[in-house]
Amino acid sequence: MWLYVVIGAGVLFFLIICFCLAVANFSFDNFKEKRDEAGRYRAQNGMFISDFVEEINERYLGGALSVRRAEEFRDHFAPNYIALSPSIISSNSLASFAIIAHELGHALQYKKGELTKHWQRRSKNRILGKFFLPFVLVGVVLAVLGLLSVLPTFVMYIGIGFLGLGFVIFLIACYSKYLEIRVEKSASKYGMNFLRECLTKGEAKICEELLNSARLTYWGSLFRTMLGWTMLTKKDKMFN
Ligand SMILES: [Zn+2]
Repeated sequence: MWLYVVIGAGVLFFLIICFCLAVANFSFDNFKEKRDEAGRYRAQNGMFISDFVEEINERYLGGALSVRRAEEFRDHFAPNYIALSPSIISSNSLASFAIIAHELGHALQYKKGELTKHWQRRSKNRILGKFFLPFVLVGVVLAVLGLLSVLPTFVMYIGIGFLGLGFVIFLIACYSKYLEIRVEKSASKYGMNFLRECLTKGEAKICEELLNSARLTYWGSLFRTMLGWTMLTKKDKMFN
């Protein structure tokens, strides 16, 4: 009986790892595919992205958002402004609507104070991330020297302690990526509310699919951080 439970658990674990690796390796390609697909449709409301940003800015952000220029594919939100690339600003494709709606979602999060904690955590974690490699290297060296009796045995335990600290940083990195996914999800949720007001149901559905696919790339990043050491997927930065 127990043998079957162990085999079952093993198979389940294997399947989960395969699924995570698939997301880690293919989520970005999936996103690009969806983006190209949504890029083929034009919004039927006659609006361009510049109109959309203006409208949401007036209605939800109290007109506080200013517009700046961004490089191609570098459209983003930063406190009190949204940076838009030249091709996006004059676009009326559904892909552009979805991407900018998400950025406007971040603007609303910022207005509601939902991003402050997230940004503070991110800058703390970046500092923490710098300790990961030194801790692991020092840990390995001390543990090996202690184990081989080149240094007294207690040095081995200090080495294991350092390795433990490295592992804790790794866990914090994974957890932070998970929290980031939640922030992205909420930005897309706000973005979808904006889109539903301006687009038809069918158009909004296409945008929603693109935003879901974008979110999957964040899961991909989390799984790459978790599984990069297996060499079955590319490594990802621990802290962005
Ligand atoms: Zn985002």
